[in-house]
Amino acid sequence: MTSHRLDGIGMTSRRTRERMIAQLRESGIADERVLSVMHLTPRHLFVEEALASRAYEHTALPIGYGQTISRPYTVARMSELLLREGSPERILEVGTGSGYQAAILAQIVSVVYTVERQMVLAKHARKLLCDIGFTNISFRLTDGSWGWSEEAPFDAILMTAAATTPPASLLDQLGSNGYLIGPLGQPDDQQLVIVRRKGAGFVRHIVEPARFVPLRPGLEN
Ligand code: SAH
Repeated sequence: MTSHRLDGIGMTSRRTRERMIAQLRESGIADERVLSVMHLTPRHLFVEEALASRAYEHTALPIGYGQTISRPYTVARMSELLLREGSPERILEVGTGSGYQAAILAQIVSVVYTVERQMVLAKHARKLLCDIGFTNISFRLTDGSWGWSEEAPFDAILMTAAATTPPASLLDQLGSNGYLIGPLGQPDDQQLVIVRRKGAGFVRHIVEPARFVPLRPGLEN
């Protein structure tokens, strides 16, 4: 774990966060590292001020530009799967959004690369995460379906927006035995899947039904 200033921030919400953790346990999240990091991380800083009081509810919330911060269960589940499937050190997140998932990831792996196509969201998340004190997250404004080839290969890739099929560039950028975790399918019929590099090919494993915003092409101002 890297040193940062999370501990002192937002302690007023400690009890609310404890309730969120209890609910996550009830929903089946069992990884203590993930639970402890989500307990410590002030999620209310990652939503608009007007919604701060709802930040710990079990729901996705709007963050502007038609996008949402994923609900706590989704963040916890993806983080838990990430740790369950291997011992990743360098990972790529596609869809920085609010920056909350990146904040959780940065406390459970060594280095996080995160990419976002929406300029305002990308700038906002970068400033927030830097202000909090994270030093192990690198940011890039790009269409994430192209990945981040200069920094590849990655031990794992977390895709936080849904594609119909796994983008070929992302699969290319997985290291040997690397894996991609993310939603695949149509808007009303998505599955959270793990796609793992195995020899010359890939093996796909379906985890559970999911509901994410779609992966969109190109950049947006
Ligand atoms: N991980 C985010 C979840 C954000 S929702 C969080 O913790 O808040 C998904 C995000 O993916 C949105 O911000 C959306 O703008 C972004 N996105 C959609 N298509 C993308 C693409 N092709 N490349 C990069 N980001 C994309």
